[in-house]
Amino acid sequence: MAEYEYETHEYDVVVVGAGGAGLRATLGMAEQGLRTACVTKVFPTRSHTVAAQGGIAASLSNMGPDHWQWHMYDTVKGSDWLGDTDAMEYLAREAPKAVYELEHYGVPFSRTEEGKIYQRPFGGHTTEFGEGPAVQRTCAAADRTGHAILHTLYGQSLKNNAEFYVEYFAIDLIMSEDGQCQGVVCWKLDDGTMHVFNAKMVVLATGGYGRAYFSATSAHTCTGDGGGMVARAGLPLQDMEFVQFHPTGIYGSGCLITEGARGEGGYLTNSEGERFMERYAPQYKDLAPRDYVSRSMTMEIREGRGVGAEGDHIHLNLSHLPAEALAERLPGISESAKIFAGVDVTKEPIPVLPTVHYNMGGIPTNYWGEVLNPTKDDPTAVVPGLMAVGEAGCASVHGANRLGSNSLIDLVVFGRAAAIRAGKVVDPETGNPALNQTSVDRAFDRFDSVRNAKGGTPTAELRLEMQKTMQEDAAVFRTAKTMAEGLEKMTAIAGKLDDLKVTDRSLIWNSDLMETLELTNLMPNALATIAGAEARKESRGAHAHEDHPERDDKKWRVHTVARVDGTSVDLSYRPVITDPLTTEKQGGINLKRIAPKARTF
Ligand SMILES: Cc1cc2nc3c(=O)[nH]c(=O)nc-3n(C[C@H](O)[C@H](O)[C@H](O)COP(=O)(O)OP(=O)(O)OC[C@H]3O[C@@H](n4cnc5c(N)ncnc54)[C@H](O)[C@@H]3O)c2cc1C
Repeated sequence: MAEYEYETHEYDVVVVGAGGAGLRATLGMAEQGLRTACVTKVFPTRSHTVAAQGGIAASLSNMGPDHWQWHMYDTVKGSDWLGDTDAMEYLAREAPKAVYELEHYGVPFSRTEEGKIYQRPFGGHTTEFGEGPAVQRTCAAADRTGHAILHTLYGQSLKNNAEFYVEYFAIDLIMSEDGQCQGVVCWKLDDGTMHVFNAKMVVLATGGYGRAYFSATSAHTCTGDGGGMVARAGLPLQDMEFVQFHPTGIYGSGCLITEGARGEGGYLTNSEGERFMERYAPQYKDLAPRDYVSRSMTMEIREGRGVGAEGDHIHLNLSHLPAEALAERLPGISESAKIFAGVDVTKEPIPVLPTVHYNMGGIPTNYWGEVLNPTKDDPTAVVPGLMAVGEAGCASVHGANRLGSNSLIDLVVFGRAAAIRAGKVVDPETGNPALNQTSVDRAFDRFDSVRNAKGGTPTAELRLEMQKTMQEDAAVFRTAKTMAEGLEKMTAIAGKLDDLKVTDRSLIWNSDLMETLELTNLMPNALATIAGAEARKESRGAHAHEDHPERDDKKWRVHTVARVDGTSVDLSYRPVITDPLTTEKQGGINLKRIAPKARTF
């Protein structure tokens, strides 16, 4: 058994992650007087949320008529009817409250002439239950919305006496014999000390796993650590096959150009200078949802109408927009286009390509953020002491495809919901659960074996192999053949985790060890993704199966539940929740009747 000395910390709540979701949860917990610690591997304001550009969706009606019911409808349709209806209703209904709270906390939103929060159009956000024109629903702070939100929430959390453990890397969950989460084991990166956090509630807010792919818009820190910890605790991941490709990553670097660029009037063209989205989505054109636009772009390239010397990308045009508007509303992406593509957006188009951007799947939860461990008899059984919020979680509001600007609102609505729920189930007056020492020891043993790994495969080599395989075989379009091959390759790649070679054995600022721990987290996420994709014989949202091009609601309107153990993935399915919270008619429509139909734009 590995011998490590450690310090024990006791809290009511430990939040792992200080992105938008983690900070909103931390703030909500601390505001209620719960003793709250927030553990994060990077400084809070360096979390990936800082890079969010375009904005945050809420039906404020500042720019024209809007209703939460319309927002809910768009989210249901956007999810291609795979989202849970109760959670999607909760998201749309609570969104305006959550945004006004952000405003009062101090987020510096862009403003209209009358001083209201400025809102821009975004893909898939419409009026009149999908019958009317596009709506301006996305609240923005120029094109630096995530930056504004993150800094505000961090300041507010400090003000409310939340305690931060910065540059602490969470290794594994501590679970009791009967399946209750009791805390988390952490490694402090700058001095090599080890820490055990004991809490009545652990909240995973560790973000997505975009880095399982070769080209992604997400930060290098987006390595699915929460999903890895959950898988090792024997708990499932849900709907992992649904990976969003953002239509406009900069060709080559993958750096994001926000959908807000099209919201402000930008459009895509092919090598013939044609605005091809008019053909694929006659009503909403460039503002169709992302899965739709990414597939249309890929089709144009396949049919020989890509731009560039190799005909392998597409142009995004902004130069027809007034230079002042670009400077005021899109300053960040104007700069990115200059740095990463050498393009002056006031004069030339930006070369773009669909790039991995968001994970719809994650740790299954209900709409209070409580983690689920579905069984046959109880598909919504809750894991005591454990919550998951943000991109790490799957509530599920994005189903098979997320609408742009619906993630930032997901972070704050569900971060807040988790705090409301914790206020009810966590009793600060009672003592903390006695730690299961076997579980603590197991975490240190695993840490020690990774630290001393003496195999033949360097971490960077295996990571690249995984990233290239995922990029090729779990792509925008998928076939039975590519996915079967991908699953076989990924199973072999995951097997090589036993042959890793770590060269640096120190405990202080050991990036070799940290990246290896991250790889052990990416791997179960990636495996669940390809296994879930291979098994799902239909096309829905971001999962475009060329051998099964139709959506099959009879057989496949179900959530994939994936349990990963080493190289094996056990798949089962749980029903989608189809009942809304509200049963009375809304805007002339019975929400119960947002029945599946063909998804056209
Ligand atoms: C470039 C870009 C632009 C985007 N723009 C928009 C937008 O305009 N609108 C929108 O709605 N969505 C947008 N998205 C999506 C959205 O920003 C993300 O889904 C969201 O920010 C994720 O937030 P999070 O709080 O879940 O995680 P993150 O912000 O990724 O934070 C994860 C946190 O977990 C911590 N952590 C992770 N692992 C560990 C560990 N092992 N130990 C300790 N701490 C750990 C990290 O330190 C970090 O603090 C964008 C995404 C990208 C990549």
